[in-house]
Amino acid sequence: ESKSAGRARLCFFCPEMRHQIIAATRMEQALRHALSRQQLSVHLQPQFMLPATGAPYLVAAEALLRWNDPTLGNVSPATFIPIAEESGLIVELGHWVLEQVCMALADMTVKGRTLPMAVNVSQVQFRNADFVPRVASLLKRHIFSSDLLRIELTESLASEDEDDVLDKIDQLAALGLSFSIDDFGIGYSNLARLRRMPLSELKIDRSFINDLVSESDVVDARVHSVPGKVVVSHGNEIVRAMLVMAQALSLEVVAEGVEEEYQLEVLRQLGCQRVQGFLLGRPQPMEKLIQAFEARELA
Ligand code: C2E
Ligand code: MG
Ligand code: MG
Ligand code: MG
Repeated sequence: ESKSAGRARLCFFCPEMRHQIIAATRMEQALRHALSRQQLSVHLQPQFMLPATGAPYLVAAEALLRWNDPTLGNVSPATFIPIAEESGLIVELGHWVLEQVCMALADMTVKGRTLPMAVNVSQVQFRNADFVPRVASLLKRHIFSSDLLRIELTESLASEDEDDVLDKIDQLAALGLSFSIDDFGIGYSNLARLRRMPLSELKIDRSFINDLVSESDVVDARVHSVPGKVVVSHGNEIVRAMLVMAQALSLEVVAEGVEEEYQLEVLRQLGCQRVQGFLLGRPQPMEKLIQAFEARELA
């Protein structure tokens, strides 16, 4: 007992960390094989336009990677994406997702009814020297209007003060792609820099949508606020400010993670035009969403 405790103290990694590292290594190996063994798939989550009055309607979809391992089961991207990033495997995984989306867009183009699609691109993949030429070659091989393809980048990448990042975004924008900042509001945005990038869209992180309160609760908060005490501004005001800022930057806005009816109504009142979330549509297998779209069951 005491002997092993002593050893543990001398060990650089505590046993718990060791287990985590072993698990991560195993997962990395499994992930490496997943591509060739067809354990990966792309899901699509619908994105909706939210008119001032009337029902939301489908306008786009976001591609989300799914991994089903025979022993690990369904592994969440929140778990395997960081591992793929650390090992560099994300470059191939991300390319595979892009290719699946390009193939789907080309296929839909032939059939005559297309839907804009967004793909998440990791910093690691984006920074890879071959990223732009590989995207260019996908666009050559798969024929569709390139403005149907949108790249979602994270705020941290968009804030890095590097000309290389800006150059790549410009080159891809010249090819017709558009750009979106994902999970907006939780990182540290360099607004001056955002303004210089050819962005189309900000996606408000779902934590802000989670903080929205219904109009009746807003009134309650005013009535019950203590005079002389600073009232912490609630989520509605933060989202309102984000919408004003996005408008100043001429950017479209998507609210992520809309789960509740009241959130949808608050967003509608605030004038947020696009929404995505479990309330209106969960991510589903790519073919399934495309079939429903083609059968005009959606929008
Ligand atoms: P993200 O790009 O912000 O994607 C949105 C995530 O929120 C998705 O999780 C989606 O399933 C989930 N979501 C959508 N609506 C709701 C809602 O109403 N409530 C809640 N609680 N969640 C909602 P998912 O698919 O697990 O992906 C997690 C993250 O993993 C993504 O966040 C993205 O950063 C990353 N990811 C997924 N696929 C890829 C990929 O192909 N490449 C890269 N680089 N990253 C990916
Ligand atoms: Mg995203
Ligand atoms: Mg997001
Ligand atoms: Mg995210």
